Amino acid sequence: MIQKPISELLARARRPLLSYEFFPPKDDAGMETLERAAHDLLPTRPDFVTVTYGAGGSTRARTLQVCERLHALGMNPVMHHLTCVGSSRDELSGILKTLHEKGIRNIMALRGDPPQGETRFRRHPDGFAYAVDLVRFIKKQYPDMCCGVAGYPEVHQEALSPESDLLYLKDKVEAGGAFVTTQLFYDNALFFDFVQRCRAWGIRAPILPGLLPPLSLKQLRRMAAMCKASIPAALAQQMEQVGDDKDALEEVGIEWTVKQIKELLAHDVPGVHLYILNRSKAALAPALKACFSH
Ligand SMILES: Cc1cc2nc3c(=O)[nH]c(=O)nc-3n(C[C@H](O)[C@H](O)[C@H](O)COP(=O)(O)OP(=O)(O)OC[C@H]3O[C@@H](n4cnc5c(N)ncnc54)[C@H](O)[C@@H]3O)c2cc1C
Repeated sequence: MIQKPISELLARARRPLLSYEFFPPKDDAGMETLERAAHDLLPTRPDFVTVTYGAGGSTRARTLQVCERLHALGMNPVMHHLTCVGSSRDELSGILKTLHEKGIRNIMALRGDPPQGETRFRRHPDGFAYAVDLVRFIKKQYPDMCCGVAGYPEVHQEALSPESDLLYLKDKVEAGGAFVTTQLFYDNALFFDFVQRCRAWGIRAPILPGLLPPLSLKQLRRMAAMCKASIPAALAQQMEQVGDDKDALEEVGIEWTVKQIKELLAHDVPGVHLYILNRSKAALAPALKACFSH
């Protein structure tokens, strides 16, 4: 089935969209966990879902398998992530051809992170150095593909400056990026400032805030370090106070995210994208249903 472009959903929406991000699991047990999460979250009626693309190996082919599985489970449209890591133009062309033939019309176009064990991104000799090149490549071959691009409220770790980061984000949008999804953040003030700076630079595309409900202090610190996101003192304090109580930690994390969502919705965001890491805690779906009530 040919999927609807997300750009169309955003243009027509009379309410904020809700989306989830999944990643391809390593094994059957992981797939079962993913399917359970998808099943639990289906009643929240997500407007679209996305599936990440690994740094290499067999997880790459699994991105498409997971897209197809989520589609079969009733989550539509499904956005397939794609990166420039380790791929030549011919290889990327082949992947795009397959995705297009399968009816996929939404791609999150990324440069990608260096593969595990490597510290710097290395462009494939016949590939691309930046996401903007991938966006151009996709739009040239398949003008009907909707491309999403990544944005960084706290500035990408390799950016020369906050200004250059925005300049290159503007390039991605002008090359055909229909909307921006942000890196995760725990402090809405950083997002509001980012949107303001984007608008001042003339970036007009919808900007979807990306949120990850923190489920433990350890996970919070790991994800924040990995994504260069700052941790608000109040959130760390609340998590420290509940100690090792797993349920209480999850409750604090979900409450924090719900508070973030409510404030974002009050500021008229075009949608909210949740990095759910293939898991749905019992309290999450009802809380989201209440926030979006559609
Ligand atoms: C919503 C979202 C989804 C993601 N999904 C995945 C995924 O599925 N798989 C995965 O591997 N990673 C994923 N990532 C991580 C992403 O790949 C990394 O953050 C990566 O380091 C940068 O990707 P990008 O597309 O933002 O790169 P780019 O936009 O190319 O930017 C990378 C860096 O180069 C700079 N830059 C850009 N253009 C130029 C230029 N022309 N000249 C000089 N400097 C330039 C930018 O300022 C930035 O510092 C995701 C990130 C987000 C926010």
